[in-house]
Amino acid sequence: MSAHMTVQIRKLSTTDSDFAKQLSGVLAFEAREDESINTVVANVLNDVRENGDKAVLEYTKRFDRLALGSGAELEISREECEAALASLAPERRKALEVAAERVRIYHEHQKKSCGSDGYSFTDEDGTSLGQKVTPLDSVGIYVPGGKAAYPSSVLMNAIPAQVAGVKEIVMVVPTPDGARNELVLAAAALSGVTRVFTIGGAQAIGALAYGTETIPSVDKIVGPGNAYVAAAKRRVFGTVGIDMIAGPSEILVICDGKTNPDWIAMDLFSQAEHDEMAQSILICPDAAYLDQVNESIQKLLPNMIRKDIITTSLSKRAAMIHVKNMEEACEIANSIAPEHLEISAENPEKWEKLIRHAGSIFLGRFTSEALGDYCAGPNHVLPTSRTARFSSPLGVYDFQKRSSLICVSEKGAQTLGKIAVELATGEGLEAHAKSAGFRLKN
Ligand code: NAD
Repeated sequence: MSAHMTVQIRKLSTTDSDFAKQLSGVLAFEAREDESINTVVANVLNDVRENGDKAVLEYTKRFDRLALGSGAELEISREECEAALASLAPERRKALEVAAERVRIYHEHQKKSCGSDGYSFTDEDGTSLGQKVTPLDSVGIYVPGGKAAYPSSVLMNAIPAQVAGVKEIVMVVPTPDGARNELVLAAAALSGVTRVFTIGGAQAIGALAYGTETIPSVDKIVGPGNAYVAAAKRRVFGTVGIDMIAGPSEILVICDGKTNPDWIAMDLFSQAEHDEMAQSILICPDAAYLDQVNESIQKLLPNMIRKDIITTSLSKRAAMIHVKNMEEACEIANSIAPEHLEISAENPEKWEKLIRHAGSIFLGRFTSEALGDYCAGPNHVLPTSRTARFSSPLGVYDFQKRSSLICVSEKGAQTLGKIAVELATGEGLEAHAKSAGFRLKN
């Protein structure tokens, strides 16, 4: 791309007669089910289920160009993770430790406020009813490693599991050509990860779901990954739990038109640089400000290392939306339900009150979304593709489950028994009726 090349970003206005149609065109994203990926993944999963370590070793050699002799060699020791932490440059180590600590503190607060203690109450017959909350026994954390390394993903997936009280946290990370990333291993040492295996793709998901001679099966698999990983997670759901299937990353910025336009341009880039299908949208009541941000984009883009990805993402999926006022901006944000929402405005809390659907909300001119990605504390694993309408950030609650508690008193057995006999008879379920009826006094 030449330094003078410009990127064209779609401009919309809520006064356009076909605004709703234009907006749905901007948001349209077909998560194409690639049949060839599905076929490969189904074969890999079957093979891992039937042949265990042997299949995992074979696929690791084929897809990650890493030839190992035995299942035991797939494991990265605790000592190696500790050594990776010890070998980090002091500034880098400090940054990782502070980030881990902030993520931990945030999730400890979350644990206290998400009903982790369960509840119980007693009715007038002395029957007590309640709910108990239990951490999962074991989870698998998928850390992507095909094209880039993601130490922050280790912190964001493992720490809430550890805070929830999960005893066994098994991390898998592919190491193409055997290249181990020391920051990823150092993050594992800091996050309560109990075992690490150098595997990736569908074979890693299969190993975690079904177990092999070396790799233990887990109860739930979390963490992002490429199309092979996503397809494999979909397929093993039911045998194990999964967190979510993440789509491309998204940012929506609502700005009152008074933030430095360079800052906002860079915030839009920070999503766009993730991948070509990432989405960046800016909404503002001031049309002149949208032009200023556009100028900043054209000025800053040529010097960005990932300018090609940013250019494709912005030209394919970005938009600038001119609105009548901030209230209207919030209404549109709710209809988009973005993964990340920045409210870059005076008194951001006032506008936040109008927001119902967003994965993570960043308030005020100083709160760049990038801080949330690494170190603010809240989780960066968030609902994408409008799923913030019905789902939440990854959290302690994803690593807990609930059991109901019922303890019926002798008196309660009479009152409830009569009701149950009546309803069971109505359903034609004799044993149900008798099971409740045997406990009635006459
Ligand atoms: P990855 O670890 O997800 O995938 C690498 C694995 O894919 C390899 O080990 C290999 O087994 C498998 N694979 C590759 N080509 C294959 C083929 N032809 N056939 C069968 N298997 C094959 O790493 P990646 O590729 O770098 O992808 C990481 C993804 O995770 C990216 O899409 C990135 O955007 C995403 N990500 C998302 C978040 C988030 O929070 N949402 C965070 C980090 C990364």
